[in-house]
Amino acid sequence: MMKKNEYYAQAINSLNNFRCEALQKQADNIKLAYKKIPRLSEIDEQLKKNMSDFMKASLSEDFKQEDAEKYKATSLDLQATRAELLYENGFSIEFLNVQYHCPECEDEGYINGKMCKCLKKLLAEEYMNHSNISSAYRSRTFKNIDLSLYGENAEQVSKVIVPFCKNYVKEFGKKKQNLFFYGAPGCGKTFMSTVIGTELINNNVFVFYTPAQDMISSFEAEKFGKEISSAVEPDIYTECELLIIDDLGTEFSTQFAESVLYNVINNRINKNLPTIISSNYGPDEFDGIYNDRLISRLTYEFTVISFPDIDLRKQKKEKKK
Ligand SMILES: [Zn+2]
Repeated sequence: MMKKNEYYAQAINSLNNFRCEALQKQADNIKLAYKKIPRLSEIDEQLKKNMSDFMKASLSEDFKQEDAEKYKATSLDLQATRAELLYENGFSIEFLNVQYHCPECEDEGYINGKMCKCLKKLLAEEYMNHSNISSAYRSRTFKNIDLSLYGENAEQVSKVIVPFCKNYVKEFGKKKQNLFFYGAPGCGKTFMSTVIGTELINNNVFVFYTPAQDMISSFEAEKFGKEISSAVEPDIYTECELLIIDDLGTEFSTQFAESVLYNVINNRINKNLPTIISSNYGPDEFDGIYNDRLISRLTYEFTVISFPDIDLRKQKKEKKK
């Protein structure tokens, strides 16, 4: 996956920049401290010499434990003087150390071959920045679902829909499942699909969100050389690990639009890459809108989740009153 590699490279690049900045800052601090305390550079030289003398001596056959103790004592003395000098001149003891962005992995991104959480976080940021999920939705997780807005349907949401979606996130790597969120406008389909998206991004999954019409417009732009403001390279629709297609059925219905939808959905099914679709129509309501092969894909390859018939936007306004 080309894009996934690019995002990884960018995250690694950010880490490299952090490390370079930290080393540069240390070099600057050393220069500053040496200028103010010339004795400090002598001490550092003595420390280095003591260390290399110790290494050399330890290779000799008649090197004894007490010799090692002698070198150690010299080193400790020098370090104590160094700390005193720094302190007397108003510097903290850490002033000359490298201040890594992530002290745990020292900005390497890996600890014993395992990815450090700092790199995971940078990767998630890269995915999020390229996910096309609106910024208003980016920080939302399952915790942000306001059940009070669902009124008498709260139980269906809290006991069926939310646990199902949570499990979907949990099992994402193992189980490849396509979802079809169906319900009236404003019932929370987009919200739920983007919550799944952001939760998965935080687990370092490459997610892309698109309204159905925008996806079709990108393919049109590519094919007919049309200029559109939000054009993304169409590869992303068949490359991302989870594609969220919002508002299916509201796009301009043309033969081209239908073939784009079929090709993307079919391509993803063949590659075993999951898709979440949300729509005001159920898959069986597309008769006469789409051709049979597309309807067949939507009906047989997607698990339909039906949302309660409620307008959350209206409920929110009522609640504010
Ligand atoms: Zn780290």
